[in-house]
Amino acid sequence: MSLLRLEQVSKHYGGLVANEDISFAVEAGEIVGLIGPNGAGKTTLFNCIAGYTAPSSGAIWLGEKALAGLPPERCAALGVARTFQIARTFTSMTALENVMVAALLKTHRLALARQRARHWLDFTGLAHLGDTPAASLTTSEQRRLAVARALALEPLLLLLDEVMAGLNPTEVQRAAEVVQKIRDAGIACLVVEHVLEGIMPIANRIVVLDYGRKLAEGSPEAIANDPQVIAAYLGA
Ligand code: ATP
Repeated sequence: MSLLRLEQVSKHYGGLVANEDISFAVEAGEIVGLIGPNGAGKTTLFNCIAGYTAPSSGAIWLGEKALAGLPPERCAALGVARTFQIARTFTSMTALENVMVAALLKTHRLALARQRARHWLDFTGLAHLGDTPAASLTTSEQRRLAVARALALEPLLLLLDEVMAGLNPTEVQRAAEVVQKIRDAGIACLVVEHVLEGIMPIANRIVVLDYGRKLAEGSPEAIANDPQVIAAYLGA
């Protein structure tokens, strides 16, 4: 059984079709890239999967559990964690405290939450910044902090929303390494990304959205050579 399965998911806002009839699956241990032009419906689909909005129709399964229509905290408790396009760090807290907030949703023991938060900071390469106020972190560090905080929810599936945007090539490379490390830790990743040089080399599969619909799905190589995808998104 697939870890995540979307069956004909649609989301309409009045007359606006944000997602239409989208079906695909994410297997345990996979990195799946979700790409497509601005406004194609990628973030809306994330919102449907993570419970931030309910699909207008269709079904979303995490294993045997139906997710569609559940609130975010239920989706998170079942194993879906996410980051946001704009990293929503708690700026008045330290990096460690930011991750502890999430860790404390899994345990009420403060010392254990601190220990787990340190683990995820270390995992994402931020161990040396634990006591730094989140507001003082660079964009790249704030993105990694958002990832560390999502990981502290101990998810089965992590939804990463443009964690590579605005990073320099070295930072993109490091972010890609962290995503691979997450997969290697047994957590599946569904990754919305416009930085194709970051996601294409590490993804097992790519799903392409265009005008709210699934335009294509396949290996990164097949997608990079798909004439429809080139015409709609990649360009020559
Ligand atoms: P980008 O790559 O620019 O982040 P995207 O692929 O994530 O774009 P979405 O943000 O999902 O695209 O938007 C898809 C469509 O749905 C857009 O036309 C957007 O304006 C519309 N939309 C998204 N959220 C809402 C909302 N809450 N109310 C009305 N329309 C919305």
